[in-house]
Amino acid sequence: MFWDLRRIFRDLWATFQGMLVTLKYYFSPAETYQFPNERKPIPERFRGVLSFHPEICISCEMCVRVCPSDVISMEWARNEQTKKKDLLWYQIDFAKCNVCRLCEEVCPTKVKSIHHSNEFEILFDDRKDFLVKWGPTTEDTVTPGPKAQPWVRFMPEGRKTTVSPSIEKGAPVS
Ligand code: SF4
Ligand code: SF4
Repeated sequence: MFWDLRRIFRDLWATFQGMLVTLKYYFSPAETYQFPNERKPIPERFRGVLSFHPEICISCEMCVRVCPSDVISMEWARNEQTKKKDLLWYQIDFAKCNVCRLCEEVCPTKVKSIHHSNEFEILFDDRKDFLVKWGPTTEDTVTPGPKAQPWVRFMPEGRKTTVSPSIEKGAPVS
């Protein structure tokens, strides 16, 4: 009898403790955001879609070497006049990226040439669309060319990518 009463009291106490937690949140302000009109603040070190800046990249290939998932590929050529490397194209396979940030950490440029953006609302229509390539705008296709030309992101078949890092952390100030 005594042990039964003790068990009943213990269960009632546990229920009361649970109700206390419910009460605490019941009177707290609601944390509901009316997405997409309202947006939850994004943490400082949020890892969104990778963003790449060919105009800053020095073609050191450190991001290619450090990536554990073989996500990044690129090609460069030595410029005999400047003795520097000219980036020909740069490619990220978003399907394989595990969002580890190693490429951003290792990138040696002062403003990171590759970095995670705050963008998370992206849509890939097809499996092959995960392959995003940066290249010169020559004839609207990805063809090797001098870095001085404007660069854009392409998906396979020369289409422009839907990836649009609108809010970019560490993006160069123009
Ligand atoms: S975040 Fe990690 S997995 Fe993704 S490209 Fe960078 S190094 Fe590779
Ligand atoms: S580590 Fe940075 S600078 Fe070097 S190739 Fe990659 S993006 Fe370019």
